[in-house]
Amino acid sequence: MSGHAVLRGEGLTIRFGGLVAMDDVDFVLEAGEILGVIGPNGAGKSTLFNLITGLYRPSAGKVFLNDRPLNGLPAHRIVQMGVSRTFQSSRLFADLSVLDNVIIGMHSRTHSGVFDALLRPSKARGELQQAAAKAGDLLRSVSASLYDQRERAASELAQADRRRLEIARALAAEPKVLLLDEPSSGMDDRDTDALIADIRGITARRPELSIMIIEHDMRLVAELPHRVMVIEYGRKIAEGSFQDIRNMPRVQEAYLGR
Ligand code: ADP
Ligand code: MG
Repeated sequence: MSGHAVLRGEGLTIRFGGLVAMDDVDFVLEAGEILGVIGPNGAGKSTLFNLITGLYRPSAGKVFLNDRPLNGLPAHRIVQMGVSRTFQSSRLFADLSVLDNVIIGMHSRTHSGVFDALLRPSKARGELQQAAAKAGDLLRSVSASLYDQRERAASELAQADRRRLEIARALAAEPKVLLLDEPSSGMDDRDTDALIADIRGITARRPELSIMIIEHDMRLVAELPHRVMVIEYGRKIAEGSFQDIRNMPRVQEAYLGR
């Protein structure tokens, strides 16, 4: 970690009618850091990602990427500037192949003719072949088993592989910041261990990549993040190493349920 803030939120607040879903939240994500985000259901974790990625407009507060304000920018611009994400529920193109899903992820950054090429292959075969080779390399670097299944439709993948593919697709945009929303959901312990290893591999190859990861699985939270922040009712109630926050009475009451 470089100690340099890649992504920063200041006073982030959003209201939905009478509900304050995010209430004056500050955060910093450093270059190369993995920041865990935990909290009970409905605490506002996914809302935080939606505020960062431009899907929601904050009622107050700002987000900065390398000191450039992101507020008001459309979501696709924020992807181009280097913030990619996965969603809590799958947003893959179910009928397209694994490889094509990654190619579309590449397109979201470059706006090359790749998307057109996919729809009209005869028009830009060379470009598509190049993109396919690059997407294949990326898939292999995320997960060998995903690479082996590259020609299958996304809908045919096991749940754990679908979650992995979403990560690969987000990485295809070559982000500086990767936001993962409950990547282990629907996974058993074995899959979760494999996911932890995959994410370690991803960060080992990309030391500058910064990751925010929303998670419920405490094994993952204990193992991956350098720091964890705890959100409850839209407020940040604690922040620190997993060891620090797990021993805070307030966190145990709010979240760990003991
Ligand atoms: P978490 O991801 O921590 O489980 P969310 O961020 O999804 O929680 O939701 C936080 C709160 O904000 C919930 O009460 C949820 O119902 C509400 N909320 C989120 N998005 C919207 C929306 N678009 N409209 C109304 N309420 C919303
Ligand atoms: Mg959520």
